Parts: sequence; C-alpha cells; structure tokens
Amino acid sequence: MATDTPGSQSALREANVRRVLRAVRTAGALTQAEIVRATGLSAATVSTIVRELQKGALVVVTPTATGRRAQSVSLSSLSGLAIGVELSQEHVRGVICDMGYRVLIEENIKYDSAQSPERGLRRVAWLVGTLLRQARVDRSQVRGVGVSVPGPLDPVTGGVRSGTLVPHWPGVDLTKELSRSVDLPVQLITDINAAALGELACGASRSAAEMVYIRLSTNVEAALVIKGEVYPGSSGLAGQFGHITVDESGQVCRCGNRGCLETLVGGPHLLDLLPRRSADEPPTLRGLVQDAIDGDRGSCRVIGDAGRAVGTAAAMLCNVLNPRQIVLGGELAQAGELLLDPIRQVLSRRTLRAAAELVEVRCGALGDRAGVMGALATVVRGTDGVDSLLA
Ligand SMILES: [Zn+2]
Repeated sequence: MATDTPGSQSALREANVRRVLRAVRTAGALTQAEIVRATGLSAATVSTIVRELQKGALVVVTPTATGRRAQSVSLSSLSGLAIGVELSQEHVRGVICDMGYRVLIEENIKYDSAQSPERGLRRVAWLVGTLLRQARVDRSQVRGVGVSVPGPLDPVTGGVRSGTLVPHWPGVDLTKELSRSVDLPVQLITDINAAALGELACGASRSAAEMVYIRLSTNVEAALVIKGEVYPGSSGLAGQFGHITVDESGQVCRCGNRGCLETLVGGPHLLDLLPRRSADEPPTLRGLVQDAIDGDRGSCRVIGDAGRAVGTAAAMLCNVLNPRQIVLGGELAQAGELLLDPIRQVLSRRTLRAAAELVEVRCGALGDRAGVMGALATVVRGTDGVDSLLA
C-alpha cells in the first residue's frame, strides 16, 4: 500500500486501516459494531475499510455464532500462520492456526516431565515438524511458535522457575533452546496465563478488558487480565490465587503457609473428603464431577462447599480489581452451575453491590484446549505480520 506524507488523506486512511487490523488481530474476531467501539472510527469508515480488506482477501467475514444479522470479521491466512504448543507434565499438544484462530491441524502426544529437558525439546521439535508436514505448511509461512509451560517463568532468565512442576527444566534457557529446536521464533508463556489468554482471544471472554481466570484442578491458580492484557506481576508471580489465606488455623499448605485456599479446594483435598468406594480405583476429579451431575448428594456437597470457598477468595479480587468476568477452568469447572451458583451467592454477599452486579461468572468455552490456544495467541497478538502487509 502506498505511503504518503503524514497528515495527507491517504496517510490518514492507512492509519485507519492499521487501527482496524490491530483491533481485529487483538480480539481474534469482531463485528463491525465492535470495531467501531474499539477504534473510535465512524460506522461508515469501518464499513468501507472492511469491504476493501475483504476484497483484498486480508480479512474473512462470516456470520456470528449467535445467528443474528451481525457478521464477524477476522484475519485471513494471508496474514500468516501461527503455532501453539502446550508442554504439560503428561503431554505435548500442538496446533497450527491462521491469524483468525481457524485451526488447520491439531495433535496431542504423550510426554513425561520427569525425563530430561533434551528429550522434551526433541518431543516439541518432532511435534512441530509433524504438524507442518501433515498440514503441508512451509516454515516460512509461520510467524512464530507460542509455547505454554507449567510456570511460573523467571523474567530474568526467561526460563522456568525452580520449584515448579517440571523438575529438570529450571536453569535451561528455554526460549533459546526451543527456538533452536523448532527453527522458528519462540514466545514463552506460563500455562495459567496461556489458558486465560486463550479464553480472551477466542473463547469465553473475547474482548473482555478486565477478567479473572481461575483454574480449579489439582492446584488452584488464577490469571489476571487488566486492560485486555494478561498481567504477569513484577516478578512473574501474579495470580497465586490458591495461596490466599482463608483459614488461619487451617491445614499447612505445600507453600509452607497455613490455611491457603488450595488446602480447601485443591483436587487432592476434595477427593479425601469422599468415602472410598474401591481400593483398586483411585477417585478422580472427573469422577467427582460426574457423580455430582448424576445427583450424588455427597459429591454435590463437596462441590458446593468448594464453590463457596472459591467465592470468598474471589470476592476479595472483585473488590480490588472490579472485573467484568470471572471465568472458571480446570476439571472442577465441568460441574457447571453446581459450582458457579455457590460462587455467585458468596460474591453477592461479600462484594460491593455495584461490582457484584457487573461481574459475570461463567465457565470457559475452550475446556482443556484453552492453554494451547493461548500459547498460539501470543504469536497472533504479538506479530507485526499484519502491518507488514500494508507496507
Ligand atoms: Zn499455600
């Protein structure tokens, strides 16, 4: 696209096109009305720009999921492709998408975090190579690889902090080693922040400026979204929701403090509350949730009590952060309203009325894919590929 002297009509128009593309890239997909709100441009200007971008195949316009007349605008594959990788304790999951989060291919392979980092790097490189081959994608089309790791990350070394769930990774310069292994630029993100970013970019919280994502699983963690961005904290430790003290004389937590929320609602504690049915079959969170959905009173009680404890801690966050949404993820969130209702009840009692009336409490839309989609979103939201198309 031709450049011109600043202040001229064409320079202004180009700046407006960039604003529209950046808004769409950040949100994943927007209706034209949402683009108007995000950019401050007039409806007529947005409509003209979207029409021209669609003609040039830079954006794709599709009907929205709600089925109303509004249409959703997202970036096309002409803007490039991105890869997301989730490295967990048990698996490596990978996905290739275009800049509008349309999935080309997705794969999940086993991994044991007790093995050496070298083996982990080889697994990631093998998965990325396999995805590229199967999707018939050339490496030059890929803007980068976002990798989610069980965090937190050390902002100084760029690697995993010691004391995390992957015992052999601390001390490894992960960004450098992974970039070398996959032969592409790599962006790291902690798994909990990736899950929040996934819901923000293409899940339950599209375009939410203020959001708290809470994951209820074996551990209890949260991610804070402030002004549309995940907030890492001054040393990468923001969101340690599970270590909010809720009972000063309670059980000693794995962090060394007493009565943390995680000692009340962490997976192992919840499962200990249930009577053992069989010595051969250890209880699981998924089993607990299914029993509650099937109407088992004890399981419903365990999940209801967990919801009330989470609500107590979440109310503190609501009073401080005034979020628009609280999004629940992790195995326990599969309980749906059995968990959400008690959280809402406590929030309405313990949060300032205006803040409680505003906040929406809901489950994530992406389930266990939130992390890999969030890893991918680090590339989509960070890339300057869109801007280079205008040069
Ligand atoms: Zn703790």
